[in-house]
Amino acid sequence: MKLTRLLCIGIALLLVGCESEPQTRQGKFYAFGTEIDVSLYDVNEDVANNTITILEEAFSNINNSWHAWQPSTLTTINAAISEGKAIAVEEDTAQLINLAKTLARDSQHLFNPAAGKLFELWGFHQDNWFESHPPPSESDINNWLTQRPTMDDIHITNGELTSSNSFVKLGFGAFAKGFAVDTAIKALKQHGINNAIVNIGGDLRAIGSHGQRPWIIGIRHPRQSGMLASIALKGDESVFTSGDYERFFQYDGKRYPHIIDPRTGYPAAQATSVTVLHANASIADAAATALFVAGDDWPTIAAAMQIDRVMLVRPDGQIELSPLMKDRVRLIGNAKPAIIRVLKDSSTS
Ligand code: ADP
Ligand code: MG
Repeated sequence: MKLTRLLCIGIALLLVGCESEPQTRQGKFYAFGTEIDVSLYDVNEDVANNTITILEEAFSNINNSWHAWQPSTLTTINAAISEGKAIAVEEDTAQLINLAKTLARDSQHLFNPAAGKLFELWGFHQDNWFESHPPPSESDINNWLTQRPTMDDIHITNGELTSSNSFVKLGFGAFAKGFAVDTAIKALKQHGINNAIVNIGGDLRAIGSHGQRPWIIGIRHPRQSGMLASIALKGDESVFTSGDYERFFQYDGKRYPHIIDPRTGYPAAQATSVTVLHANASIADAAATALFVAGDDWPTIAAAMQIDRVMLVRPDGQIELSPLMKDRVRLIGNAKPAIIRVLKDSSTS
């Protein structure tokens, strides 16, 4: 009898012991043509499984609503714009489009989600974007440049969207992943989960910590296998990178990556990778794209977008950091010291 009781107490202590060492549970699923990894710290298996199912559904809904070339809310809106018609939009759709308008204006339209026709011309709005194909003709690009559609052409009043330029075609590829990650984190918080990472193909938002340790994440080297840097995250932060090394096609021995400079109509070529650290994932995602386009001029655009933690890699491999990013990144095995560039407020210069 005594022995049984002792054994029970022993087992109970063992269980308590196990429970006092929380673990990270992981789940993965696919959306936006890439893998999404969710890490949840200190939640039980049932909660973890339910949560991952909820997030999978949320990602799939956003992907379906904002798909640029398969029938979606977005393609319906684009059809109305090209016909010069007004279209009724739901409140959450209006919110997302208005956020895109603000980010586009702040970035001086280097982030230009109204440039869907241009992304289409380059063949990036189709499933076989990676197959070799000729770049668009100069006259097609010049024609687009003459029309120069921007988010300023879009107006939403009383739930009705109109465009003053029928050449606008919306394409939210440069910030839909960030928006989906923000939506996922909001859902996690609503379910009482406060320590987690939602990672979409290397771009992510983290909340809380990993017990006593911060979440530590790696940033891919744009030209070598392995990591370029690591960052220890503080509470609620997003890290988004835009690069020229994943989505591109080749033609006649030349590489054409998918981030297009709306000023020239050609792929941006002054950077190979840009990483932005910011609280909000949608903003970090849009800013990474805008600063990639800005290239050498990134400190001005970063200041205009109120982005203060930036790492940019130039085509010659030189790393450039904003002063606040310098305090946050740990560069891995980099021979050349990074250049620190102070953000430049163009309104005061
Ligand atoms: P990734 O999705 O690889 O992280 P980005 O967030 O930079 O890359 O998004 C690039 C995508 O956004 C392109 O595939 C295209 O659909 C669209 N895009 C390309 N150039 C721009 C731009 N200047 N502004 C807004 N969207 C862009
Ligand atoms: Mg982006």
